[in-house]
Amino acid sequence: MMIFDIAIIGGGVNGCGIARDAAGRGLSVYLCEQHDLASGTSSWSTKLIHGGLRYLEHYEFRLVREALIERERLWRLAPHIIWPLRFVLPAHRSLRPAWLLRLGLFIYDNLGGRKLLPATRTLNLLKDEAGVPLKSDARYGFEYSDCWVDDARLVVLNAMDARAHGAVIETRQKLIRAERNQTLWRLTIENQSTKETKTVEARALINAAGPWVTDVLKHKVQSNMEARIRLVQGSHIVMRRLYEHNRAYIFQNADGRIIFVIPYQKQFTLIGTTDRDFKGDPSEAHATEDEITYLISAAGEYFKEKIKRDDVVWSYSGVRPLYDDGAPRAQEATRDYVLKLDAQDGYAPLLSVFGGKITTYRRLAEAVLDRLKPYFEKISTRVGWTGKEVLPGGNFPVTGFDMLIDQITNDYPGFERMHIERLCRLYGTNARKILGSAATISELGRHFGMTLTEHEVEYLIKFEWALTAEDILWRRTKLGLHLTEENTKSVKIFMQNRNI
Ligand SMILES: Cc1cc2nc3c(=O)[nH]c(=O)nc-3n(C[C@H](O)[C@H](O)[C@H](O)COP(=O)(O)OP(=O)(O)OC[C@H]3O[C@@H](n4cnc5c(N)ncnc54)[C@H](O)[C@@H]3O)c2cc1C
Repeated sequence: MMIFDIAIIGGGVNGCGIARDAAGRGLSVYLCEQHDLASGTSSWSTKLIHGGLRYLEHYEFRLVREALIERERLWRLAPHIIWPLRFVLPAHRSLRPAWLLRLGLFIYDNLGGRKLLPATRTLNLLKDEAGVPLKSDARYGFEYSDCWVDDARLVVLNAMDARAHGAVIETRQKLIRAERNQTLWRLTIENQSTKETKTVEARALINAAGPWVTDVLKHKVQSNMEARIRLVQGSHIVMRRLYEHNRAYIFQNADGRIIFVIPYQKQFTLIGTTDRDFKGDPSEAHATEDEITYLISAAGEYFKEKIKRDDVVWSYSGVRPLYDDGAPRAQEATRDYVLKLDAQDGYAPLLSVFGGKITTYRRLAEAVLDRLKPYFEKISTRVGWTGKEVLPGGNFPVTGFDMLIDQITNDYPGFERMHIERLCRLYGTNARKILGSAATISELGRHFGMTLTEHEVEYLIKFEWALTAEDILWRRTKLGLHLTEENTKSVKIFMQNRNI
């Protein structure tokens, strides 16, 4: 039986990021994910690659600086799924004073890493288009930069690149037990469809199970490590597009928190998030009526037009696996990552990951490998490579997205531009792999609606571990919000028949 250098539990952004980095440095890597890639917290985020303006208030300068540097770096690595977004922050007479907002934004602009993204500017909301949907007491504000990310696709692209470097990535495979046999970890892995088990051996074990990190530590692994995790739920609501322009808002709330209002999937607006301590099974987290009411009323403080409960077309919820630093309120718990190593002389190490942001996943992976340096010589080679080599489909200039669409549209004149644009957003230069030699959409097999074709579905099955309609519609393509019930049903039936 092959003995892997490292085995990773969890196919979220952190697990897949670690797998990519380790495999690229020449380690043999095994990763198991109990459901689909990114089915945990990594697809339920606000989807921002950001420094986290709010964390400055909690003096998290290390985290903010690292995240700000990562912001442009990640944009360069995957300009199809990551792109700049401008945020409008209206001043509020009875909340933080304008000088404090300006100071925070000055620090945010200058803490590091900003080369291409435009700086902050002051806005006259009585004149600027961004003021149009807002109540008239929002007279001025500021506009600053961050980036948007398709979170689930970031995870899949890391997994694909890890596999390209030799990693074995398995989905629907759950770790049910891990025993340490001095220098080796022996894992019992259960196939979630057949319930058959198998054994995998590795020299080091990485617990990147996100909100399940303590479940793995307490119930699956032999370890006495103390598990200080704070599970904090965050929910979002989605409504039909609330306004015309393409900037996002960041609103201050009277409770000291902030919420984001973000253009989403062209036809929708995303509003989030909440922060509340969570108990129970993270896979069952859902947006509660209280949270939905909170988000509607927080946004309603700013928008002229009344937002109604019936306007909410979808909601989702995720659980942040934060390190418990003893902060009194959920919103104040650190968003920084903490790594805990359980290693005694002569024994195979176990490293557990607590906390972290999507934005800092790549740096977290580097920090994990740094901690494992004493065990593997190869780790000292190619340090930092993941910050230089683009992710699959990202091999075009960082500001060249429109050019990519133009080129592919020219090469495929029989296709509608909006179809090509959708493919470029998801797959970057790999859009060509889906289009192949087809001259029109009818040559791409069955059409399920909204330009989703059989060729695309087959690509997702073959290269991106998609196994169910949910994998395809809600994580790989995000078409779930757009397709009719009938369209969705036909994808489900297609996948069921395909899996028989
Ligand atoms: C509401 C909300 C908003 C957020 N917004 C942002 C944002 O805008 N920007 C940002 O940078 N960050 C954001 N974050 C933080 C970010 O989403 C998380 O820090 C990150 O996704 C955590 O990734 P992870 O890989 O550690 O965990 P996960 O994505 O949860 O991955 C862990 C995986 O482990 C698997 N697993 C668990 N147990 C087992 C087992 N026994 N065997 C096999 N597999 C197992 C799970 O199925 C899961 O897929 C947000 C988080 C939340 C909740």
